[in-house]
Amino acid sequence: MSENREKAAADFREEIKHAFEPGAKVMSADRELRYCLELQRNRISKRNLKYTEEMVHKGPFPDGLKNVRSWRDDHYEASWTVDYIDHNTTIEREGLKTYTHSERQAIYETLVDVRDGEDVSGDDYCCPNCGAVSTIAELQEGCRHCGTSFKMSELYPKVANYFYVYDVSGRAENMWLTVLKYGVYALPVNILMCLYVLYTSYDMKTPMDYLLHPDMFIRMLLVIGIMLPIFGYFAWIFDAFRIAASTTPVLFETANARKKFASKMSMFCPEFIFESFAARMVSLLKIVAFSDNRADLPSYAGKDLGNAFDNVVDISFLGAMSCKSVREKNGIVYVTGDVYVKTARDMGDRIKIKNEIYRIKAGRKREAMFDTGFSISKIQCPSCGASFDALKTSKCPFCGSDCNLENNDWVVYDVRNVGLEILIKRLLIALVIIVFLCIGIANSDLPELFGSIMSRYG
Ligand SMILES: [Zn+2]
Ligand SMILES: [Zn+2]
Repeated sequence: MSENREKAAADFREEIKHAFEPGAKVMSADRELRYCLELQRNRISKRNLKYTEEMVHKGPFPDGLKNVRSWRDDHYEASWTVDYIDHNTTIEREGLKTYTHSERQAIYETLVDVRDGEDVSGDDYCCPNCGAVSTIAELQEGCRHCGTSFKMSELYPKVANYFYVYDVSGRAENMWLTVLKYGVYALPVNILMCLYVLYTSYDMKTPMDYLLHPDMFIRMLLVIGIMLPIFGYFAWIFDAFRIAASTTPVLFETANARKKFASKMSMFCPEFIFESFAARMVSLLKIVAFSDNRADLPSYAGKDLGNAFDNVVDISFLGAMSCKSVREKNGIVYVTGDVYVKTARDMGDRIKIKNEIYRIKAGRKREAMFDTGFSISKIQCPSCGASFDALKTSKCPFCGSDCNLENNDWVVYDVRNVGLEILIKRLLIALVIIVFLCIGIANSDLPELFGSIMSRYG
């Protein structure tokens, strides 16, 4: 089983590089992720954009790191696989300011697998419509002879989610290079400190002083050279700290979310992994955002979103999701959570990148929380008998009739951008803390202390 997992993870890293090329199929992804990549590919081609992704494996681990973390319940196991890459993205179109972004990143893949499940992907299956024999794996995107679509259990292991994080530490062999690079950035500070020491200790003020004492000038260059990696090291630590500080709050959100989700969800269904749920929410957000026909989308039952997502050409998950509430009503379990993403929007003349937070309310029938064991059946329109992919539309594409095929999967009931709301809330909290601090200081002995120091030197 673990061989299959490694293969799925490695296949995904290959397939994702070409995911936006015409006709691409990312078969290592689960069907929701596959569908959102397909919708995104359509959005990009509709906007005539040329979207190029280049990912070059880098770093000391030739196959990346497997199983860096894993979570399991009675039926499923989810794990993270990490690889280190140089990631270059280019978005081009005539009249558009070309967008390029290059970053050293770690790519995280959320791999989901069934525990003790049997692998049926290689089994033969006879198409009930045309009689052709295919393997189960070949039928995932429908019968290639007659186009019949099937409703079948997911063929695990599959990649359910992926995200990129800025890599500050993954490459041991580049340590010296990194330190020297940061040393060059810190050169102005280095030189200023050297000049200051020479000025205070040896009274070297003007350029003339240095001409008269060339030995001091050489000494200064030597000291700068010695200090370069030391300054570089501190600058690097500071930068890594800055990046970590900007991502830590969202990581805390996820750590809390996992606990909250698990304790609340246990009332309805004890076995449920937060990672696979988070993966599903991200896929659903993307499906809703990239869909041009939300009214017929079986996974969306919310209000009309207007053109809020029309110019979005990329949504990348930032690796964090929080859980706000879990409730049950009329046999449906509703979960509300915030998903942290980075969006790329096509503004016509340029691409706009923004960090956004979306609050998603999704629900699933309580009795449908689990389906174990493999099943496959033909999907058929009750009116005209045609077959179509029920994940993509609830309206028969042939006769147009509404096919309320039973939906046992997650459905999104509401999506809204809460970035501003959360920002204002955080600012208010900061303000309250500052006010209390000020009151505290005003009531303490500190003002008098400052006053006495000021009067002594003033
Ligand atoms: Zn067939
Ligand atoms: Zn029909």
